[in-house]
Amino acid sequence: MSAVPPHEQDLLRVAVGGSVDHGKSSLIGRLLLDAEALKGDQLDEVKRGELSHVTDGLRAEREQGITIDVAYRYFSTPRRGFVIADTPGHTRYTRNMVTGASTADLLLLVVDARPPGLTEQSLRHVQLAHLLGIDHLVVAVNKIELVDYEPEAVTAIQHEIAATARRLGLTQATVVPVSALEGDNVVTRSTRTPWYQGPPLLQVLEDAVPRSAAEYSPLRFPVQWIVRDGAYRGLAGQVSGGYLNTGDEVTVLPSGERSRIARIDSFDGPVDHVRGPLSGTVILEDNLDVARGDVLVSTDGAPQPAREVDATLVWLGSESLTPGRRYLLKHLTRRVRATAASLRSVYDVYDDEKGDASELALNEVGEVTLRLATPIVADPYARNRTTGAFILIDELSHDTVAAGLVRETRAQIGSDEEQKSPDVVWHPGKLDRTERWQHLHAKGATVWLTGLPASGKSTISTALEQALVHRGRLAYLLDGDNVRHGLSGDLGFDAASRAENVRRVAHVARFFADAGGIAVVALVSPFAQDRDLARRLHEKAGLPFIEVFVDTPLEECARRDPKGLYARAKAGRLSGLTGEQNPYEPPPAPEVTIKTLEEPVTDAVERLMALLGVVG
Ligand code: ADP
Repeated sequence: MSAVPPHEQDLLRVAVGGSVDHGKSSLIGRLLLDAEALKGDQLDEVKRGELSHVTDGLRAEREQGITIDVAYRYFSTPRRGFVIADTPGHTRYTRNMVTGASTADLLLLVVDARPPGLTEQSLRHVQLAHLLGIDHLVVAVNKIELVDYEPEAVTAIQHEIAATARRLGLTQATVVPVSALEGDNVVTRSTRTPWYQGPPLLQVLEDAVPRSAAEYSPLRFPVQWIVRDGAYRGLAGQVSGGYLNTGDEVTVLPSGERSRIARIDSFDGPVDHVRGPLSGTVILEDNLDVARGDVLVSTDGAPQPAREVDATLVWLGSESLTPGRRYLLKHLTRRVRATAASLRSVYDVYDDEKGDASELALNEVGEVTLRLATPIVADPYARNRTTGAFILIDELSHDTVAAGLVRETRAQIGSDEEQKSPDVVWHPGKLDRTERWQHLHAKGATVWLTGLPASGKSTISTALEQALVHRGRLAYLLDGDNVRHGLSGDLGFDAASRAENVRRVAHVARFFADAGGIAVVALVSPFAQDRDLARRLHEKAGLPFIEVFVDTPLEECARRDPKGLYARAKAGRLSGLTGEQNPYEPPPAPEVTIKTLEEPVTDAVERLMALLGVVG
């Protein structure tokens, strides 16, 4: 792999943190002033490009509806360029901190030399920056003139920083005593701190090695748009990891098709390679059907498109996350629907208090599992800060409610369908299915009715069960309310419990259908992914699975309300009712749709009977 191009090596992104009034702004001001005085010439073109890249990113997020207040400043010395992100440290500004730190190479923490020195808030900054992948810390102990240039305060802070660095596993932590006001140890070494042997702050920053994760990452090239011009068809985007090289084989995800890079166009014309974070337009040897949002990856080390993501969320929304809620997940150029399936540990960024894991509130950090309606091409954040990051958006308000870091991805939703102890083996019976069904004059199947509460599932399915049995068929109703007596009596109504309930019912239905019966399932089963699991279980076993969408508008369900659920929810005596507080995902392609406002029960039952091959 070739060396890092010089302009890349030259640029250092610095997030500046620290408590209010510890002197962040004056230190940044001093750095800018003294460094510019040293140099005085103009930014070269490449650096301009880099800077606009930073501000472009911000603009995109503004359009996204985030109000960020990160001030980016640029300055350079003869040795390198710097992008400084000033991230106000107050609780309200967690999102600024996240935004500033997510692209930074190191955290410059400004700490007042006077007591209390290193505050809890400063330590939180270090922790948050570490969470976002920054493991290089530079601490400027400021206002050294106010402690008469004595070393004691600095030594105390140094000890605390060393302990924190050990605890978090930071790779580097440097402490520099400075006076932003007087300029001591900012650009040149001060004669007033003879006890300090190290270099001045600017030199520390000039010597810092930028994170070069992109260099080690395999190729990730998200396609931002398709450039069409006559016969020309280029895939334009920004390299988010690795290199684009002409001649290299690439895999297009999620389709998995392969081709080679025939040509790369850059702003300055055709080039042989492009490395992150620069942009390019790629022409493939084969005319594949590539769309905006697809990702070109190196065939070696291609990630599996993910349907389920374990992630760390920094919660930025005023309304808390609760398991079962659905959001829009924005990842690279894609937006997909995501359901928070489960929430594990939670802690507050500014408080030591461990929150309880039933919800995730403002400024809390939590571990969640998200289920996606459409797969995304993601990497763990530790491996790639671009393809490993996402934001969650509230579907209604369009507010950004969380910054997310991918920990782990899975291609399948809760593949617990295969879950078993290694000590058990499937015990085959003496009958195969054909023989069994022939002797019983039966044909097994599962009819799965899904729909809002009070949409008519029980009404239709009891009628169907009765009609089937009257025709001599072994049919049995697995009703949502009935399975919660006993079989699923231990489960609640959060997303994870609902998923587990569906899983159990799906397995029971499969056994029943295999036996030659017709399992009639009447279950709200609000999540498409859970129903898909039931379908997969049947399809893998070669059993018919008929998904029936009982399609009744919410207002009508609330009006009918035979069990009084909607009334109780309205009165505040029932929480989490599907359709009201919890989402319902209608099936995109059910075998049968019954619009109960238009079709009487008897007609619907007749249609289902015909489909099952039981006519008249
Ligand atoms: P679910 O099992 O989906 O919660 P229920 O079957 O218990 O719903 O309740 C549906 C209500 O709607 C019942 O009171 C039923 O009589 C009424 N209803 C009216 N028209 C229809 C129809 N065409 N199909 C099914 N139910 C209907």
